[in-house]
Amino acid sequence: MRYMSTRSEPGRGDRLAFDDVLLGGLAVDGGLYIPEHVPKLPEAAGPEARNLSYAELAARIMAPYVGGAVDDDELASLVADAYATFDHPDVCPLVALDDDHWLLELFHGPTFAFKDIALQVVARLFDHELERRDDRAMIVAATSGDTGSAAMEAVAGRDRLDIVVLHPAGRTSEIQRRQMTTLDAPNVHAVAVDGTFDDCQDLVKAMFADEPFRTESKLAAVNSINWARVAAQIVYYVWAARRLADDRPVTFCVPTGNFGNVLAGHYARRMGLPTERLLIASNTNDILSRLIETGELAAHDVVPTLSPSMDIQISSNLERLLSELFDGDGAATTALLARFRAEGRAGLSTEQHERLRAEFAGDRLDDSETLDVMGRVHAESGMFIDPHTAVGVGVAERCRRPGELVVSLATAHAAKFPDAVLNATGCRPDPPPALAAVADLPERCTSLPNRIDAVEDFVRSVRRD
Ligand SMILES: *Cc1c(COP(=O)(O)O)cnc(C)c1O
Repeated sequence: MRYMSTRSEPGRGDRLAFDDVLLGGLAVDGGLYIPEHVPKLPEAAGPEARNLSYAELAARIMAPYVGGAVDDDELASLVADAYATFDHPDVCPLVALDDDHWLLELFHGPTFAFKDIALQVVARLFDHELERRDDRAMIVAATSGDTGSAAMEAVAGRDRLDIVVLHPAGRTSEIQRRQMTTLDAPNVHAVAVDGTFDDCQDLVKAMFADEPFRTESKLAAVNSINWARVAAQIVYYVWAARRLADDRPVTFCVPTGNFGNVLAGHYARRMGLPTERLLIASNTNDILSRLIETGELAAHDVVPTLSPSMDIQISSNLERLLSELFDGDGAATTALLARFRAEGRAGLSTEQHERLRAEFAGDRLDDSETLDVMGRVHAESGMFIDPHTAVGVGVAERCRRPGELVVSLATAHAAKFPDAVLNATGCRPDPPPALAAVADLPERCTSLPNRIDAVEDFVRSVRRD
């Protein structure tokens, strides 16, 4: 298996193996790595794979993407080790909302959001590869809330890795911030940037674009631009379909920010998983659902909402889908993105828009609709759901057709958002003990201005050699 950049021309540009893509993150030309071809679901992950454990299924689905960079037995044990950190035997359990609508709970990992599913595996893959190369890496990441703590938790205490995580000051929830700032390990560093999530993401991109700095600091990314994360996320789409063992193709509804999660669903479909539709659920920051409706990418200002991990206007992973819509024409993909950056809007062709609408649909919920869904689900089932999950559930209810089998992805534990839950239901969800503990621990965080020189200086100052 080889990978190429979304910005390279067909038949040109470097072709990289998985281990280089894993450590490289963003391609040198600024594009994102995509597999040269999409493998079919392995037979061993076919419908009879219903009895496999989650970790066994994960190793089989990831193997063609890893492409021999890690041998199959090692991959299986690494993945088993990653999912042993989860607090549910199914790793990603399914819970019924009604006969044809299921919640896929993706929040049973160490930081209680779905980012753990990929990052627990990716950090172990990094360690494995750096050990083999006798090298080290400095991970830099931007987070709108959940990625940061999940990445820091996955990296904490690992010898060959340091990590610096940028978050927009004051725009993550109290618990999300505390999960990052209370981690007591010498190789993890939380930074509050005076800016938005998009500013943080731009700073990370700028560090990678600064070639001398990138090399000197041995930068690596675990943001959702990293292909290995997408590969790990493909697994739970297949898992849900196998567990439901229903003859109907599944419609997945995905609360969406950076487009990484729903992109993994798209790849599961391309691998041959029978999928009816992919529903893109947005909060008020609805650039993606507007793209589906109008065929135009049009940036608005970022509005803070109850679902901060979706407060994003520039969804980095969208580039991978755009490159498909341009049939791998890197120059055309780059031109569209450049136009969008320069003018704040860029349109797809009618044909591209139709291809998009054949697979995706979407809608949005504002904060008050989100609270309504949280309150109603609690009243009907006694279940607490978090605001991100509620955006998905609300969009699924609005978009579903009679007889359609729908799986809504539950992306965070409700106890990570106690104020919204209290507001919606009048009750406080009990936090899992590991989450309750962060309230009393001392915080460690550095505040920096939204300037590349300040951030690069900080990274140099904390790097261990
Ligand atoms: C990251 C995150 C999302 C958005 O996922 P993307 O892959 O960025 O689309 C949704 N909900 C929660 C709780 C998250 O942490």
